[in-house]
Amino acid sequence: MNVLAYPLAMFEAILRRLMREPAGVLFLPVGQCRDSDVQLLGTANPQATGLLAVSRSAGRLAPSRAGVDTAAAALVVGTEHLSGQAWGLLRRETGQPQPLHLLSLQGPGMHRIVLHPTPALRSDPHPGPRHAAGTERWSRTIGALGEQAWRRLTDLAYAVVGCGRTGAAVASGLACLGVRSLLLLDPDSLELHNLGEMAVAPECTGRPKAEILAEQLRVLSPPTTLHALTCSVTHRLALRAIRNTDFLFSCVDHDAARLAVGVLAALYVKPLIDIATGIHGAGPERRMGADIRLVLPGERCLLCLGGLTDEPDARRILRSQREEIRFYAARDWSDERAGSLASLNHTAASLAQRMAEDLVAERIQHSTWLHLEFDAAGVLTASYPDRLTQETPRAACPHCARFQGLGDEGLPLVRSFFSAGQEGPRPDPEPAHAT
Ligand SMILES: [Zn+2]
Repeated sequence: MNVLAYPLAMFEAILRRLMREPAGVLFLPVGQCRDSDVQLLGTANPQATGLLAVSRSAGRLAPSRAGVDTAAAALVVGTEHLSGQAWGLLRRETGQPQPLHLLSLQGPGMHRIVLHPTPALRSDPHPGPRHAAGTERWSRTIGALGEQAWRRLTDLAYAVVGCGRTGAAVASGLACLGVRSLLLLDPDSLELHNLGEMAVAPECTGRPKAEILAEQLRVLSPPTTLHALTCSVTHRLALRAIRNTDFLFSCVDHDAARLAVGVLAALYVKPLIDIATGIHGAGPERRMGADIRLVLPGERCLLCLGGLTDEPDARRILRSQREEIRFYAARDWSDERAGSLASLNHTAASLAQRMAEDLVAERIQHSTWLHLEFDAAGVLTASYPDRLTQETPRAACPHCARFQGLGDEGLPLVRSFFSAGQEGPRPDPEPAHAT
């Protein structure tokens, strides 16, 4: 399926501009991601070499000659009696042009508009037999979310990066919601210290976490498509698999992996929910908390929504595969935190799922950072640190524009970014404390 993916706010701005444009045609940069199918990615970055011709028509849904001749792809948006319809064409380097099948609007609602063969607005491009016949199981969920929101939510393809306690809770929650496609990704195998509080048989020790989780989900509520990958998120196999998903959950336990997932989300225009839990200190000084950050593409990035605890160190680890392997081989969890509590992981995972539900139901309209903290008396405080700074102007973030929507063309820039020294503004307010 050939997909054109745009951050929703960016696409809405293009439509407004298009209606004011006397010639009725706009030429816009697009990033590209080429596998057997093609994804075109909306970007404001002039380094993108692809061009999309967007035009409007009240008479016939076909591209203008200028659009076909000069751009990599053409999109025609219907107006007046064709309002709500659109048509797309993709030029291939060899062979005949192909249809663009789907316009994917990444943001509140996560709407999908089918462009071909039926040029009509539809929010449910993949109505399968499960939806037609078997919704009784989810009747309570549908009652809570509304059927259209539930269908949009469960039709998305999700990647869960990190399959420890938090990732397992997120993946189980998504599978139980009835999602159709789930990618599980974790290079680690289960160790004895992972077993405590996890619903995993001791015989599983030594086996890859992602595979164990996939086996559990197949029994629980199997998604139509379920893949487990046992490699790092920086591996080319992970890159290829993640590119074909719609929505990322980052449940990793280190900032290097967190940064890698955040950059992929920006490059390929995908919403990201990053979850970090932390328990630090001892006795009355012990702090427990979590940071759950929903990062919408084209609006914010992980580095300007809370940032990382030690961004230069994260970059250093990602400079080369050798550096990454050396770092993870030398890690000892007890150096980084006092311990883990499944109750804290499950709390964070559930709130992350609520964010995804509210984004797709259009209750959440913007990138959101939720910070949880249990004080010494066990009192829980939930705050939204980014809202505290919204009244003061925020410094422009160079990272948002650096990678957003560049797709495969942005990968060399990512490599040089990881190798470069510290640059850009410090995150404001204070970085997330959880790890
Ligand atoms: Zn940013």
